[in-house]
Amino acid sequence: MNSAIGNEPERPGKIMLVGLGPGSNDHLTARARAAIAEADTIIGYVTYIRLVADLVVGKEVIKKSMTEELDRAIEAYERAKQGKKVALVSSGDAGVYGMAGPTFEVLFQAGWTPPSGQPGDIEVEIIPGASALNTCAALVGAPLTHDFCAISLSDLLTPWPVIAKRLNAAAEADFVVALYNPKSGRRTRQIREAQRLFLAHRRPDTPVVIVKSAYRPKQRIEFTTLDQMAGCAIGMLSTVLIGNSNTFVRNGLMVTPRGYANKYRVDSGDTRAGEQAGRSLSTGLDGWLETIRASGKTPEQLAVRYGLPADYIAAAMAEAPEAEVAGDSENTEEGDA
Ligand code: SAH
Repeated sequence: MNSAIGNEPERPGKIMLVGLGPGSNDHLTARARAAIAEADTIIGYVTYIRLVADLVVGKEVIKKSMTEELDRAIEAYERAKQGKKVALVSSGDAGVYGMAGPTFEVLFQAGWTPPSGQPGDIEVEIIPGASALNTCAALVGAPLTHDFCAISLSDLLTPWPVIAKRLNAAAEADFVVALYNPKSGRRTRQIREAQRLFLAHRRPDTPVVIVKSAYRPKQRIEFTTLDQMAGCAIGMLSTVLIGNSNTFVRNGLMVTPRGYANKYRVDSGDTRAGEQAGRSLSTGLDGWLETIRASGKTPEQLAVRYGLPADYIAAAMAEAPEAEVAGDSENTEEGDA
C-alpha cells in the first residue's frame, strides 16, 4: 500500500495525540473515536488501550508500560516516517501530564518541523480530552469555579524542591489545587509533605475531596478536610482537590464561590452599595489604585499590607489613571458579570 517514491512514502505520516477523557465510552469525544478508527497503529499504556479495545481490532497495537514514554514517542515517529497514521493515546488530555510534551521533545530532537507541503512531512494533531481535574470536579459539584491550578506530586522527573515551592506558592495564593499523581506504592510521603505545606496557609477544616477512578467502574469519592486527607485512601488513580479559603461543602457538593456575593446580595440579586453591574468591583484595579493613591502610604508600607512587591506598587501608582472610554460597557459574558 505504502509503495515508496524514492525514499519517501507516498502518503504523509501522521501522529495523533489522543486524549481519551476519564475512561468511559460516554466521555470519549467523537474526534478521539474517529482518530483511533483512522489510525494504523495505536500506542499507549495497557490500561488505556483496554479502554478502547473495541476500536483497535485489526490494527497494530503497541502496549507500553508507564515508564516508557520516550520509547512510545520514538516508536510513533518511526511509524509516521513510514507513512503510517499513529494514535498515541493518553488518559484525560494528552497535553496534561501526558504524551504531548515528550512527543514534541522527541520530534524536535529528530529535526522535525511542522508540515510545509514537502514530501515526507509528518503532521501532528492533538485531540483534546477532558482532564482529570475537569472530570473529578464534575463528580463533586463546582470546586474549580474560581482560580485553580494543577500540581503533580510525582518526583520521578521533577525535583522535590520545585514541587514544594509550587505547593507553597499555590497554598499561599489561595488557589484551589488539583493534585495529580498524589501517591503510589513507593511514593507515600509526598502527600503528607503537601499537607504540611498547605496547613501553614489554610485552615485545617478546608474542604478536600479525593476522587478515585472517575467515570470508571471502580469510581470512589471521599470528602475530607485538609488536616485529615493524608490518612485517606489515596493511590495512583486518585486526584485530590483542595478547596480555597471560600470553598464549602453542602449536601455532598463542593462549591467554590465565583465572587458574586462581593457585588450582589445572593438572596435578592440586588447590587451592593458602591458596586455597579458590568463594572469592575470597587476594589477592582481602578478602585484599588484610587485607594492606594489616596492612602498617603509609601509603596513599602502598602507592600506589607497587600503582600505584593513594593516595586510593582510604586510602578502602578506612578502611571496616570486610564480615561474612561465613553460607551465602553463591559461585556457580560458568562463569568464576567
Ligand atoms: N493526562 C491525564 C493525567 C495523567 S497523570 C489527564 O489529563 O487527566 C495520571 C494522574 O491523573 C493520576 O495519578 C490521577 O491523579 C489523575 N487521573 C487520571 N485519570 C483519572 C481518573 N479517571 N480519576 C481520577 N484521577 C485520574
